[in-house]
Amino acid sequence: MLTCSKVNLSLAVTAKRPDGYHDLDSLFYPFRDPSDVILLKDAPASNGVTIRCDAPGVPLEPEKNLCGKAVYAYCKAAGMDVPGLVIHLEKHIPVAAGMGGGSADGATVLRLLQERFHALSESQLEDAAFSLGADVPFFLNPRPSYVTGAGEHHTPVEGLPEHLLILLAAPQFPVSAAWAYKHMDLQRAISTPPRTNELIDALRRRDFESAAQFMRNDLEHALFDKFPLLLLLRAFLLENGALRVMVSGSGPTLLALFRDDAAAQAAYARATSEFDPAVRFILPA
Ligand code: ATP
Repeated sequence: MLTCSKVNLSLAVTAKRPDGYHDLDSLFYPFRDPSDVILLKDAPASNGVTIRCDAPGVPLEPEKNLCGKAVYAYCKAAGMDVPGLVIHLEKHIPVAAGMGGGSADGATVLRLLQERFHALSESQLEDAAFSLGADVPFFLNPRPSYVTGAGEHHTPVEGLPEHLLILLAAPQFPVSAAWAYKHMDLQRAISTPPRTNELIDALRRRDFESAAQFMRNDLEHALFDKFPLLLLLRAFLLENGALRVMVSGSGPTLLALFRDDAAAQAAYARATSEFDPAVRFILPA
């Protein structure tokens, strides 16, 4: 089964919660591509869960990999014994890049188990997803969504363009979400009211110039301070026609919004020849 990925067209942090999570006011936007591929194969129950994956940076221990964690969370919620499973994971989504790859994998395994066992209600499935991570519930039904709370409240947003002209620039180094949240300027974020509704209205009107003004990521200042490559990349993409260049999620992937397809394609070609192989460029679908 194919997973999917996401960017945050806006990620405003509105509070730090006692449980350690942050409350967000965010617009999540999914892509069918890039996506990972996940296959579940039966194995003897005594073997437990095995993860097979070649990608660097992805843990193979089932208690650390979100695919394995999803199996345990599902079985716990359903009161089931853990079945013997081999999970083949083919990674295409950049790892620890702010595109939700691990969360999407976890949600996909929950869906695959639900197709097999039908042992949970939809709300139990949502709870199991949230127990894996704040972004996981979104990936149970990936569609453009207005997300609040730590990620547990997500409302589909209708009327957005089906295909936004976005170019992704994924530098080939990881950033942990914990690092990004630890180094963000929380006071500055909390004192700046979110304008996500205005962003949504502008996107519904296909007014991309206005939308660009309302795009926001409260985590990005720390990343631009720490990684000068991101500043270089942002300047390059803006010089090459992007309306707005912003960090996605907890980074380091940048998303660049374009007005037209030709501009996005031209920037893709130039950026690839300029920054390859330090940065992977993706025109998502
Ligand atoms: P998000 O956007 O949800 O904050 P991310 O895209 O920044 O996440 P992921 O690719 O999900 O980051 O990976 C974060 C960390 O999770 C990795 O460094 C890795 O150690 C661990 N991990 C566990 N399971 C997976 C998985 N299936 N795929 C990728 N990383 C995983």
